[in-house]
Amino acid sequence: MVARLLTNIGELLTNDPELGDLSAVGRLRDAALVVDDERVLWVGRSSEAPDADEHYDARGAAVVPGFVDSHTHLLFAGERSEEFEARMAGERYDGGGIARTVEATRAASDDQLREESASRLGALRAGGVTTVEVKSGYALDVEGEARLVRLAREFTDEVTFLGAHVVPRDFASDRGAYVDLVAGEMMRACAGATWTDVFCDEGAFDVDEARHVLEAGRAAGHPLRLHANQIRDIGAIALAVELDCASVDHCTFVGDTDVERLAHSNTVATLLPGADFSTRSPYPSGRRLRDAGVVVALATDCNPGTSYVTSMSLIIALAVREMGLSVDEALWSATRGGAQALRRSDVGHLSVGARADLVILDAPRAAHVAYRPGTSLVREVWRAAHAGEVDSSVVRHDTRR
Ligand SMILES: [Zn+2]
Repeated sequence: MVARLLTNIGELLTNDPELGDLSAVGRLRDAALVVDDERVLWVGRSSEAPDADEHYDARGAAVVPGFVDSHTHLLFAGERSEEFEARMAGERYDGGGIARTVEATRAASDDQLREESASRLGALRAGGVTTVEVKSGYALDVEGEARLVRLAREFTDEVTFLGAHVVPRDFASDRGAYVDLVAGEMMRACAGATWTDVFCDEGAFDVDEARHVLEAGRAAGHPLRLHANQIRDIGAIALAVELDCASVDHCTFVGDTDVERLAHSNTVATLLPGADFSTRSPYPSGRRLRDAGVVVALATDCNPGTSYVTSMSLIIALAVREMGLSVDEALWSATRGGAQALRRSDVGHLSVGARADLVILDAPRAAHVAYRPGTSLVREVWRAAHAGEVDSSVVRHDTRR
């Protein structure tokens, strides 16, 4: 395997305190690193760098670990911009919401879904995302959900079964039958997913229904995650902590008891500022969660209804501006925090042995990601080889100089 030396890095965030200035982001200046096609082999000062087969000059740029987007609904057909426009204009609008996307997704061919989703994945990757989670949840029938799980597998190893997204129209008069279907036949058809997730909130599934589905997911061998407290607090966070979910996502409305619960758990709070932005909801305080000792992750929640966002940089900027996180904290949450939300120790940092996933910025300091919102500052994305994926078309420019 070829070893590549990346030298002359102005500022390197490793997310490994021991490697850097002992801060959580493990900052090193005048740094260099050596990677092969899969792993980080060496990290340190430029002046002490070992030789390698190939040399790349970062020309003083900042380098950060590849972003880990731990919450997306990337696989869908169609779009719902009229819904967004009406919401922003303060108008009532019933375009069908999720049901409209379900209809379009059910009607789309495999190739159409692949094509539409690959374009979104390309945007995420161009913006520095090197690990992405993708959920099912826009078919809501047995065959359709199994198809989405299968297609999502072509994009990523982090595939989440979300048959319990909403109750589909055809089950409106018998939601119990739908919950049983999800926990039974649909779960069996979607066993190839990595995770099970439920939208546990007002207007979606209540705590008992969510528990039923999550326990079936666990029995199928899936670790768990949960959509919680986006619309209202119905007790979803206590359920997530009780069932040791890897992550509770949204957390827009969180009481003090739940903050304490999360602080004493292995459950990460994943904040989704793109959803708060696109629904004009209040932003939860990341500051409050961090200060209480909760591990905070940031993700795009890319979906056509409430967060059609494919820029991790925007998410970081919003978290800094609106959620009270420092720039370093937001960068950590979008990398190592996301990795923790996926219970991954091989990504989200640049220690020796970690996956060789990194972003070279068009900026001398990583803070520019939040400081210059609205401009892509990603010069290059280096992403370790991932077997079996169809997205080889996307970013891996190697600009040897
Ligand atoms: Zn979501």
